[in-house]
Amino acid sequence: MRKRTRVTHPPEVKVPPDNRPLVAPIYQSVKFTFDDVDETLGLFQGKREGFYYSRISNPTLRQLELLLAELQGRDGCLLMGSGIAAISIPLIALLKSGDHVVYFAEQYQPTRALIGRVLRRFGVTSTMLSIDDLDGLERAMAATPTRLVVFESPTNPVLKIADIERLTAIARRHGALTLLDNTLAGFHNHGQFAVDLFAHSLTKFASGHGDVMGGAIIGSAELIDSMRGDIGILGPTLDPHAAFLLQRGMKTYFVRWDAQCRNAQRVAEHLSRHPQVERVRYPGLPSDPGHALALRQMPDFGTIVTIDVAGGEEAGTRFAEALELFSITASLGSTESLVVPPALQKSKGFTTEQLQWSDIGPGTVRLSIGLEDVNDLIDDLDKALLAANHD
Ligand SMILES: *Cc1c(COP(=O)(O)O)cnc(C)c1O
Repeated sequence: MRKRTRVTHPPEVKVPPDNRPLVAPIYQSVKFTFDDVDETLGLFQGKREGFYYSRISNPTLRQLELLLAELQGRDGCLLMGSGIAAISIPLIALLKSGDHVVYFAEQYQPTRALIGRVLRRFGVTSTMLSIDDLDGLERAMAATPTRLVVFESPTNPVLKIADIERLTAIARRHGALTLLDNTLAGFHNHGQFAVDLFAHSLTKFASGHGDVMGGAIIGSAELIDSMRGDIGILGPTLDPHAAFLLQRGMKTYFVRWDAQCRNAQRVAEHLSRHPQVERVRYPGLPSDPGHALALRQMPDFGTIVTIDVAGGEEAGTRFAEALELFSITASLGSTESLVVPPALQKSKGFTTEQLQWSDIGPGTVRLSIGLEDVNDLIDDLDKALLAANHD
C-alpha cells in the first residue's frame, strides 16, 4: 500500500473481545459497513442488528437512547440535536393538515410558536388553554376531534403543576395522544402516568454543565418506530460526540439533581420569608398552589424557583443585575446558577386573558439553582434584593 493510500486506510487496531474499555468509546463514524451486500440488505429488512448510517442510528446514540428510555419507563427513544427538535420533529411526524392540537399558555415559548405559528402554516389547527383549566380541555376535545395534547409539568417559567392523571384520561377518552415536555421534571419523573410521549431538552439536566445541546423523544417502541421513517428523512440527528458528552453527564445526573433540588428548596424557603419578594413559585413549598398535586406526582420538586420581586420590572432588572453568582442568560439545569429577568420572559403576543393564564407578572424572575454552596446563593440573593430596593 502506498503512502497516499495508507493515510485513507490507516492500520486497524483490534481490541480483543475479553478486553473492554470501561467507558464506551465514541463511534465518531458516519458510516458502518458489512462484508457483503446480503448482510447490508438484511439490516435494511430488519433481519439482523447493526448500523449503516449515523443519521439513522449510531451505537453511541443508541446507548444513550436505551438509558433515557429506561429512566423514563418506556422502551423507545430517539435523540435529536436540540430539545426543541425533540418536540418539532415528532409533531411533524405525527400530524397532518387538518389535525387539531391542544396546547397551553403556561408553556415554553418556542413550543407555543411551533404549534400556533409554524404548524399552522401547514394546516394544523390548535387551541391554547390554561393548564389549570382541564374542564376547558374536556370541552375543547368534545367540540373538536383532537390528535394531540402537548403540555408541561412543572410549567416553564411559573412552575404550575399539571394534573397529569386527569389530563391523560381526558385525552385518551377522546382518542388523542399526549406529549409531555418533561424537561423541568427530569428523566426519572412521571413515567407512571399514561403519557404517550415524553420530550426532554438534554441541554439542561443530561448535559448538566451547559456545554452540550441535545433532545430526546421517548415513548413506546411501537409509537417511536412508527415515526422513525419520517424522522430519518427530516434529519434532526445528534452528533456522536455530543451523545458521548451527554452520556458522561448522565453519570452524575442524580447526584446533581438531588443537590440542586435541595438547594432550590432552601432558596425557596428563604425567599418566601423575604419582605422584598411578593411571591415565590416552587412546588416544594407547602404554600404553593401546586404543592399537593406535586406531592402525589413527583418525589422531588425540581431545581427552578420563580419569584415576583416587589417593585415590578425595574426592581426585577436591578435585582438580576446585582446578583453576582447568578448569570443573566437563557437555559437552566447547569452547575452554575442562572437568572432570567422580567424583560427576558417571553410572554409577548398574549391577549389579556392569556397573560393571566401565563401568570407572568411585571416582576417575575426565574432562578435556575446550581451546585454552589446554598449559603452563598442566599447571601447573594439577599444582597441583590437590597440593591433592587435602592435604585
Ligand atoms: C430548554 C427547553 C426546551 C428546548 O430545549 P433546547 O435544547 O434549548 O432546544 C424545551 N422545553 C423546555 C421546557 C425547556 O426548558
